[in-house]
Amino acid sequence: MVQDPNFPRWLEQIAGTGGCANPVHLSGSTSTLDAVTGEILHHYDTRTEPNERLLVRCRNRRATVCAPCSRLHAGDTFHLVRAGLLGGKNVPATVRNRPRLFVTLTAPSFGPVHRAGELCRPRRDGGRCEHGCPLSCGTVHTPDASVVGQPLCPDCYDYMGHVLWHAHASKLWDRFVIDVRRRLASSVGLVQSRFAQHARLSFARVAEYQKRAAVHVHAVVRLDGPAGPEDEPPSWGTADRLIDAVHASARRVVVNTPYSLAVGELALRWGSQVDARPLRADSDGPDDDAVAAYVAKYVTKGASETGAGIDHRATTWDDIDAAPVSEHVRTLMRVCWRLGGLPEYEPLHLRTWAHTLGYRGHILTKSRAYSTTYAALRAERAHHMGHGGVQDEVPGTVTDRHWRYVGSGHTPGAALIAAGIAEDVARNREAVVDEWVSHGRRSA
Ligand SMILES: [Zn+2]
Ligand SMILES: [Zn+2]
Ligand SMILES: [Zn+2]
Repeated sequence: MVQDPNFPRWLEQIAGTGGCANPVHLSGSTSTLDAVTGEILHHYDTRTEPNERLLVRCRNRRATVCAPCSRLHAGDTFHLVRAGLLGGKNVPATVRNRPRLFVTLTAPSFGPVHRAGELCRPRRDGGRCEHGCPLSCGTVHTPDASVVGQPLCPDCYDYMGHVLWHAHASKLWDRFVIDVRRRLASSVGLVQSRFAQHARLSFARVAEYQKRAAVHVHAVVRLDGPAGPEDEPPSWGTADRLIDAVHASARRVVVNTPYSLAVGELALRWGSQVDARPLRADSDGPDDDAVAAYVAKYVTKGASETGAGIDHRATTWDDIDAAPVSEHVRTLMRVCWRLGGLPEYEPLHLRTWAHTLGYRGHILTKSRAYSTTYAALRAERAHHMGHGGVQDEVPGTVTDRHWRYVGSGHTPGAALIAAGIAEDVARNREAVVDEWVSHGRRSA
């Protein structure tokens, strides 16, 4: 292969993907023509490329699927969240003076689970549940002990509630945001429907799986004027008022599950652990970079990385039996499968999402006005790198694109080379961000 005259260009392509572990192979061409004369100003065709194809990144955000692309995605998330806190990437720097909160919302308890770091579930009476399991543990578990997050009694644990809560978590978040707006409005005597004429609430949130395999939500919430990031909020729009509204809404909002003969109707709420802390412009509070890095860290982790679920969809009951997960997680997957067979829960697609324990939200969700977008960050990068297949639209020109998918992945030899490149890239690229994201601290 090294003797192949195409080798240098082939290597260049792999380097262009940053050593992506599973690149997409495209075949096709892009032509840029003068809109008036029809003259071809630029033409790129994969026919002259090695194997007549162009390799592009898989862009998977998951570290277990593709480490280089997930690192890139985490970096983009860091910039996206950071721009919403401090400005930059077309977001005005004045956003740093707005009321901004870092909010954590949790799932409610579905039953006692083993805890790490402190005396686990101490109880003197030595009682047992109706299934004969001890109600106390009394051990001090290390955080990585396999028992941490597992229920004291699986039969007492509300597996159906857990799965159905996951399936409605995104809806619960939507209701929460609506309710925060409503509360802010009514706290200053505004008619709720007028809120949008006075202020705008923006957010970026990530989901994180806890040890008990329940999703936690971390969010950055910002209050602007009605026009968004460029606009000052009204004088009543203070961080304190926003904190009060967040706490009240987190306590109050509820989503009812569809009625089921087997399960009944559940009223789903947030857990009682709610945290809302202001991010201050004078940095008397959690540092903005630290918050952005903290949020970015979670987007590279799916359910499988945290032991809560598996990488890909389970398509049969046997897939669930064979999954390399704890009994607790397996039970959650089985409950997803069983409930997913009930017609009343059909819209929840619980079987499709059994591998993520019923949670089907994106790992990162943001409101439109919060910050820039992943697409804008990618376009910016493509522009800097002068990517062969992607060209900016130039006024007065027409671009013709004809592309098709012809395959994916690497041969074993190419995979080794790609891994080497990925390592180099990881060492050199955006060292500060990488450090932030992987360790949550500033590199020296
Ligand atoms: Zn990749
Ligand atoms: Zn314990
Ligand atoms: Zn029990």
